[in-house]
Amino acid sequence: MQRENYLIDMDGVLIHGNKMIPGADEFIQRLKKKGKKFLITTNNPSFTPGDLVHRLKTFGLNIEPEQIFTSAMAGMGILTMLSMAAVFLLCLWFLRDPRVLAHFRTVTHERR
Ligand SMILES: [Mg+2]
Repeated sequence: MQRENYLIDMDGVLIHGNKMIPGADEFIQRLKKKGKKFLITTNNPSFTPGDLVHRLKTFGLNIEPEQIFTSAMAGMGILTMLSMAAVFLLCLWFLRDPRVLAHFRTVTHERR
């Protein structure tokens, strides 16, 4: 059985600036209707999947948080894969995504 899954870049493919790319809504609807699995991807780590679901909804695109894959999530995957005992992260976006944050224990001060 051949599986057909889709990775769809968000910016420039589904939306551009404050506008939806014409036909993006129909494309997503068609994937849903056919039961195809897809992920909306973005290289912008500033927003959580929840933020992006809300943003896409303003364009009429109804996407579930589980259908969003951000670069923050990819970063988490790399850190997990490297099995590092301790990582010093100097970035706020990591701390905004509960799905990413769930994989780490954070400290807000220097441990001695
Ligand atoms: Mg793009």
